[in-house]
Amino acid sequence: MSAKIRLTCMDCGQVNQFPADKAEASPVCGICGHKLNDGKVAKLDLKTLEKAAKSDDLPLLVDFWAPWCGPCRAMAPEFERAARSLSPKVRLAKIDTQSNPDATVRYNIRGIPAFILFHRGREVARLAGARPAAALEQFVAEKLALTK
Ligand code: ZN
Repeated sequence: MSAKIRLTCMDCGQVNQFPADKAEASPVCGICGHKLNDGKVAKLDLKTLEKAAKSDDLPLLVDFWAPWCGPCRAMAPEFERAARSLSPKVRLAKIDTQSNPDATVRYNIRGIPAFILFHRGREVARLAGARPAAALEQFVAEKLALTK
Protein backbone atom coordinates (compact mmCIF):
# COMPACT_ATOMS: atom_id res chain seq x y z
CA MET A 1 0.00 0.00 0.00
CA SER A 2 2.54 2.60 1.09
CA ALA A 3 5.15 1.86 -1.55
CA LYS A 4 8.11 4.17 -1.42
CA ILE A 5 9.65 5.81 -4.43
CA ARG A 6 13.15 7.21 -4.80
CA LEU A 7 14.10 10.24 -6.86
CA THR A 8 17.52 11.82 -7.01
CA CYS A 9 17.62 15.59 -6.67
CA MET A 10 19.23 16.84 -9.90
CA ASP A 11 20.37 19.96 -8.05
CA CYS A 12 22.11 18.70 -4.89
CA GLY A 13 22.35 14.97 -5.60
CA GLN A 14 20.32 13.88 -2.57
CA VAL A 15 18.33 10.67 -3.11
CA ASN A 16 14.87 11.50 -1.79
CA GLN A 17 12.38 8.87 -0.74
CA PHE A 18 8.64 9.43 -0.40
CA PRO A 19 5.32 7.63 -0.84
CA ALA A 20 4.68 6.61 -4.45
CA ASP A 21 1.45 8.61 -4.67
CA LYS A 22 3.45 11.82 -4.11
CA ALA A 23 5.78 11.19 -7.05
CA GLU A 24 3.55 12.94 -9.53
CA ALA A 25 2.36 15.68 -7.19
CA SER A 26 5.39 17.98 -7.64
CA PRO A 27 7.59 16.69 -4.80
CA VAL A 28 10.54 18.79 -3.62
CA CYS A 29 14.00 17.80 -2.37
CA GLY A 30 14.13 17.39 1.42
CA ILE A 31 17.59 18.96 1.51
CA CYS A 32 17.57 21.91 -0.92
CA GLY A 33 13.89 22.38 -1.84
CA HIS A 34 14.53 21.91 -5.56
CA LYS A 35 11.51 20.58 -7.48
CA LEU A 36 12.05 16.91 -8.27
CA ASN A 37 9.50 16.36 -11.01
CA ASP A 38 8.37 19.60 -12.64
CA GLY A 39 8.70 18.77 -16.33
CA LYS A 40 11.84 20.86 -16.78
CA VAL A 41 15.11 19.55 -18.20
CA ALA A 42 17.62 19.27 -15.37
CA LYS A 43 21.35 19.75 -15.89
CA LEU A 44 23.43 16.89 -14.54
CA ASP A 45 27.05 16.25 -13.71
CA LEU A 46 28.43 12.73 -13.97
CA LYS A 47 28.17 12.01 -10.25
CA THR A 48 24.50 12.98 -10.08
CA LEU A 49 23.76 11.15 -13.32
CA GLU A 50 25.26 7.91 -12.00
CA LYS A 51 23.28 8.25 -8.78
CA ALA A 52 19.99 8.99 -10.56
CA ALA A 53 20.52 6.21 -13.12
CA LYS A 54 21.08 3.73 -10.31
CA SER A 55 18.59 4.90 -7.68
CA ASP A 56 15.57 6.47 -9.36
CA ASP A 57 12.25 4.68 -9.46
CA LEU A 58 10.94 6.86 -12.28
CA PRO A 59 12.37 6.43 -15.78
CA LEU A 60 15.06 8.94 -16.73
CA LEU A 61 15.93 10.05 -20.26
CA VAL A 62 19.35 11.70 -20.52
CA ASP A 63 20.58 13.88 -23.38
CA PHE A 64 24.36 13.75 -23.88
CA TRP A 65 25.24 16.99 -25.61
CA ALA A 66 27.90 19.71 -25.90
CA PRO A 67 27.85 23.45 -26.56
CA TRP A 68 29.95 23.06 -29.73
CA CYS A 69 27.49 20.59 -31.25
CA GLY A 70 25.10 22.39 -33.64
CA PRO A 71 22.50 19.60 -33.88
CA CYS A 72 22.51 19.33 -30.05
CA ARG A 73 21.75 23.03 -29.67
CA ALA A 74 19.18 22.92 -32.45
CA MET A 75 17.20 20.14 -30.81
CA ALA A 76 17.34 21.49 -27.24
CA PRO A 77 13.83 23.03 -27.57
CA GLU A 78 12.52 19.65 -28.79
CA PHE A 79 14.03 17.93 -25.76
CA GLU A 80 12.39 20.53 -23.50
CA ARG A 81 9.08 19.95 -25.24
CA ALA A 82 9.40 16.19 -24.71
CA ALA A 83 10.20 16.81 -21.02
CA ARG A 84 6.96 18.73 -20.54
CA SER A 85 5.01 16.14 -22.45
CA LEU A 86 6.43 13.09 -20.64
CA SER A 87 6.16 14.69 -17.20
CA PRO A 88 5.38 13.47 -14.56
CA LYS A 89 5.85 9.85 -15.66
CA VAL A 90 9.40 10.29 -16.92
CA ARG A 91 12.14 12.75 -15.97
CA LEU A 92 14.41 14.29 -18.61
CA ALA A 93 17.89 15.64 -17.98
CA LYS A 94 20.94 16.66 -19.96
CA ILE A 95 24.66 16.36 -19.39
CA ASP A 96 27.23 18.60 -21.05
CA THR A 97 29.93 16.21 -22.27
CA GLN A 98 32.38 19.06 -22.75
CA SER A 99 32.27 19.89 -19.02
CA ASN A 100 31.93 16.19 -18.13
CA PRO A 101 34.21 14.33 -20.58
CA ASP A 102 34.27 11.29 -18.28
CA ALA A 103 30.56 10.78 -19.01
CA THR A 104 31.25 9.86 -22.65
CA VAL A 105 33.72 7.20 -21.49
CA ARG A 106 31.52 5.94 -18.68
CA TYR A 107 28.51 5.49 -20.98
CA ASN A 108 30.47 4.71 -24.15
CA ILE A 109 29.04 7.63 -26.15
CA ARG A 110 30.42 7.65 -29.70
CA GLY A 111 28.57 10.65 -31.08
CA ILE A 112 26.25 13.38 -29.86
CA PRO A 113 23.51 14.09 -29.39
CA ALA A 114 22.86 10.69 -27.82
CA PHE A 115 20.01 9.71 -25.54
CA ILE A 116 19.98 7.00 -22.91
CA LEU A 117 16.84 5.83 -21.18
CA PHE A 118 17.38 4.49 -17.66
CA HIS A 119 14.84 2.67 -15.54
CA ARG A 120 15.07 0.57 -12.37
CA GLY A 121 18.82 0.96 -12.09
CA ARG A 122 19.80 -0.01 -15.60
CA GLU A 123 20.05 1.25 -19.16
CA VAL A 124 16.88 0.34 -21.05
CA ALA A 125 17.72 1.72 -24.48
CA ARG A 126 19.66 4.37 -26.33
CA LEU A 127 19.13 6.53 -29.37
CA ALA A 128 21.67 8.48 -31.43
CA GLY A 129 21.15 11.67 -33.38
CA ALA A 130 18.86 14.68 -33.20
CA ARG A 131 15.13 13.95 -33.08
CA PRO A 132 11.91 15.96 -32.88
CA ALA A 133 10.03 15.81 -29.57
CA ALA A 134 7.41 13.43 -30.92
CA ALA A 135 10.07 10.87 -31.90
CA LEU A 136 11.64 11.05 -28.44
CA GLU A 137 8.25 10.58 -26.81
CA GLN A 138 7.51 7.59 -29.01
CA PHE A 139 10.92 6.06 -28.28
CA VAL A 140 10.36 6.34 -24.53
CA ALA A 141 6.80 5.00 -24.70
CA GLU A 142 7.83 1.99 -26.77
CA LYS A 143 10.85 1.10 -24.67
CA LEU A 144 9.04 1.41 -21.37
CA ALA A 145 6.15 -0.71 -22.60
CA LEU A 146 8.64 -3.42 -23.50
CA THR A 147 10.16 -3.55 -20.03
CA LYS A 148 6.92 -3.77 -18.06
ZN1 ZN B 1 18.28 18.82 -3.51
